[in-house]
Amino acid sequence: MINHGTRSGYYAHRRLGQTPCDDCRAAINEYVREYREKNGLARNRAGEKVRRKAMAALRDRYREEYEELVEEFRAEESNLI
Ligand SMILES: [Zn+2]
Repeated sequence: MINHGTRSGYYAHRRLGQTPCDDCRAAINEYVREYREKNGLARNRAGEKVRRKAMAALRDRYREEYEELVEEFRAEESNLI
């Protein structure tokens, strides 16, 4: 007995050596999509935090260059160069 349209249905098909039906494939695709979305977001958030820290450290370490670059880009933005 396969419970079609569910994740366990998908695995049941596979266990029986069958190609999963469309409903079961749709269920597993949805599950994988949600999983990636959730875990991808968590990973991104952690990565963002680390990058922000690194940027702040760089800014402190190269304060003068940073200020120069800010001035340079600001000038570019206002088309002064
Ligand atoms: Zn099925």
